[in-house]
Amino acid sequence: MSQDIPKEQWAQVIHKTGGPVEYKKIPVQKPGPDEVLINIKYSGVCHTDLHAVNGDWPLATKLPLVGGHEGAGVVVAKGDLVTDIEIGDYGGVKWINGSCLQCSFCQQADEPLCSQALLSGYTVDGTFQQYCIAKAAHMARIPKECDLEAIAPVLCAGITVYKGLKESGVRPGQSVAIVGAGGGLGSLACQYAKAMGLDIIAIDGGDEKRDMTKKLGAQHFVDFTKSKNIVNDVKAATEDGLGPHAVILVAVNEKPFQQAAEYVRPRGTVVAIGLPAGAYLRAPVFESVIKMITIKGSYVGNRKDSAEAIEFFRRGLIKAPYKTCGLSELQKVYDLMHEGKIAGRYVVDTSK
Ligand code: NAD
Ligand code: ZN
Repeated sequence: MSQDIPKEQWAQVIHKTGGPVEYKKIPVQKPGPDEVLINIKYSGVCHTDLHAVNGDWPLATKLPLVGGHEGAGVVVAKGDLVTDIEIGDYGGVKWINGSCLQCSFCQQADEPLCSQALLSGYTVDGTFQQYCIAKAAHMARIPKECDLEAIAPVLCAGITVYKGLKESGVRPGQSVAIVGAGGGLGSLACQYAKAMGLDIIAIDGGDEKRDMTKKLGAQHFVDFTKSKNIVNDVKAATEDGLGPHAVILVAVNEKPFQQAAEYVRPRGTVVAIGLPAGAYLRAPVFESVIKMITIKGSYVGNRKDSAEAIEFFRRGLIKAPYKTCGLSELQKVYDLMHEGKIAGRYVVDTSK
């Protein structure tokens, strides 16, 4: 390891499920032979990080835990087996921190489905610290011309919605409803959908999120807090009134997961991405059959999806709004997120 790597660093640590997070100094780890150590400069805060604090998924986290999985920084050390990454390269830590690379899923580039996958900020320590480890094979390669602060949210939110839009099969010129469009994933989904040439119906609550999603490229907005009939309003927002070709569900409440099948267009696809605690998808069998709809889940993205999502950003196609605060203020971000008050994404600066 190079000499200027400190032995100790600032981090936000969860000691027990339910929180709170504690801002404290912890040791800097050394990378293993197939790993890199990244000096995280900025990390986005994803709603998944809040699910991890609250322990509301049927999957246990490691404890104590350093959360975070949208980390952008600079490679400062690497193991002996790492030959294609240099010290000083820009690197990103994403949700899939590592995978076995050998199972049938890894072999077919479905590595998020690997049963051995390491999850940043969940089963291994993540990016709410100044120095974070990632398996070199899975480190996101970030081109040098990219701004590390602005690209951080792409490393989970961007990759995930880009993948979800591809999974929906929607084509340029068709329409997509983005449910939860004013949040972190949603705001990036608006930008990717715009770059893909889609007609966007944004669904979220409040004027701030309406104005933001319109700026990001949404042609229509349905306010779930005001609408008397979401199904009719979403259908009415499409040109022929038959509903959107695809629905991207990135909301954090169960209700829209039980409505989407009713407004998606015949032959359309509903893609569930958001993970509200204890929620169920629901669809009327009769309409689902006679409309021949598809309902599917989509989970982050593989290494190629990640590289493609980053390339959209590098080309200047993705400019989603974010606010930045110090890593020390993470609890404040969780409080705002819990109340649904964040339009876009929060990014934490690990130097503060
Ligand atoms: P966020 O808190 O930034 O955004 C959620 C948005 O949903 C908010 O704007 C909120 O107002 C909106 N919302 C709530 N109820 C709604 C309703 N009834 N209709 C429409 N909008 C509604 O959260 P985020 O960081 O964007 O994450 C969203 C979800 O996606 C989380 O559950 C997260 O864990 C999950 N996630 C899944 C994957 C995956 O791979 N599938 C990856 C990352 C995040
Ligand atoms: Zn995430």
